[in-house]
Amino acid sequence: MKLIYEKSAPGRQAARAPCRTVPLKNYIDSRLLRAQPAGLPEVPEIEVVRHFVNLSRMNYSVDTHFYPLGSCTMKYNPKACEAAAGLPGFADIHPLWPQLRHGGMLVQGALRLLYETGKMLSELTGMAEVSLQPMAGAHGELTGAMIIAAYHRKRGSRKTHILIPDSAHGTNPASAALAGFEVVAIPSNADGVMDPAAVGAALKPDTAGMMMTNPNTLGLFEPNVKAISELVHSVDGLMYYDGANFNAILGRCKPADMGFDVCHLNLHKTFATPHGGGGPGAGPVGVVEKLRAFLPISRVIKTGDGTYSLDYDQPDTIGYVAPFYGNFGVVVRTYAYLLMLGREGLRDVSNRAVLNANYILEKLRPYFDSAAPGRCMHECVISARRHAAKGARALDISKALIDKGFHPPTMYFPAIVPEALMIEPTETETRETLDAFVDGMIEVVRAIEIDPERLHAAPVTTPVGRVDEVAAARALDIAFSAK
Ligand SMILES: *Cc1c(COP(=O)(O)O)cnc(C)c1O
Repeated sequence: MKLIYEKSAPGRQAARAPCRTVPLKNYIDSRLLRAQPAGLPEVPEIEVVRHFVNLSRMNYSVDTHFYPLGSCTMKYNPKACEAAAGLPGFADIHPLWPQLRHGGMLVQGALRLLYETGKMLSELTGMAEVSLQPMAGAHGELTGAMIIAAYHRKRGSRKTHILIPDSAHGTNPASAALAGFEVVAIPSNADGVMDPAAVGAALKPDTAGMMMTNPNTLGLFEPNVKAISELVHSVDGLMYYDGANFNAILGRCKPADMGFDVCHLNLHKTFATPHGGGGPGAGPVGVVEKLRAFLPISRVIKTGDGTYSLDYDQPDTIGYVAPFYGNFGVVVRTYAYLLMLGREGLRDVSNRAVLNANYILEKLRPYFDSAAPGRCMHECVISARRHAAKGARALDISKALIDKGFHPPTMYFPAIVPEALMIEPTETETRETLDAFVDGMIEVVRAIEIDPERLHAAPVTTPVGRVDEVAAARALDIAFSAK
């Protein structure tokens, strides 16, 4: 497919703007005006439309295909939530419009939505208060780690490090380090979960806390989480819950009840906001009562007369983590999703997510090694080590799946599983879709038995075939030079 610049011809235009009658320099500082035209492509409107419609058709999305990307939770996003986010009363407001205390009523609905979403997320997590400010899961982690640091600073405790399981998402150690902590990795046991003994062995008086994901990145519920929380609390450490896998336990159990003090949720994973390609997301952070004072500003409060306002008067706050009020559009979708599903519907989400993952795990068991014995939660991790020994690695299996019309699972994560393939079907898929995916995986396994070398060429059905990753890094050429 040609670039839109290659379709350009001088003088071709879509809409023609009326002639300017006032010189631009009357309104815009002349130093900011272009000396030359912007060099935009010149194409008629129909060519613009075709160009972008055809580009979009080359895209792979949840709306077109099954997307079992483990840990990322690429679930279907109900269109009703999109409609809510597109309502002019939400989509067209400006963050600088006055709140009530400045004399306006223009954003009361938006503030109420933020307030009520925070309340519902507090209820689901068992936390005392939730801040909707952070704009991604990793951003929530950083916010949470800063809150942990602020808590210890306030108490005058010298705390140097945070404990993190070796199966953790890479953002966990990165966030802890950015907040000024050293990271101590705790090895998973043979069953793929945390041993209280291993945590106890690493625990010191200057342990600031522990970050855990539950269910963990192997898709396993941590059975000893309560005992581990008690250990960490015994040195006044705080427990951080990475809620990226919250969709596995939604409506069934609460991080606060497991002993966690701080948690983030990925609204774009658990609460059905479209994501991929880097965003936008939202990573609200919830805290227990004793950490409330450290939450970022602003906070939405409900005043005595039933109106809502933004509160900045928080002396112990860690400060601002996002401009204005976080990713508001994502929160609107979540609000709609929560109200649409209700308590029973949310429980059903986790029930089905777990059922679907176990269905796939059982069907694939004869063909792959499972990363852990027994059942999984909302995702399963299998290893392609046997196939790699025959000459087709997890990478080759993933690429071959693309030729069968499926997005590959997450691969080589968690890093503790060799040749890992991490499959998360989510709750929204039908049994027929799950069967079709399993059949696709089995066909790939059969192809490996016949000729593993052939998989090295995959994918062969896509507009762009397999990229030479070494060349892409060493001889990068992304420049387009207009003729
Ligand atoms: C996705 C994910 C994160 C990071 O969340 P982002 O929203 O992508 O920043 C952290 N931990 C786990 C386990 C995840 O799956």
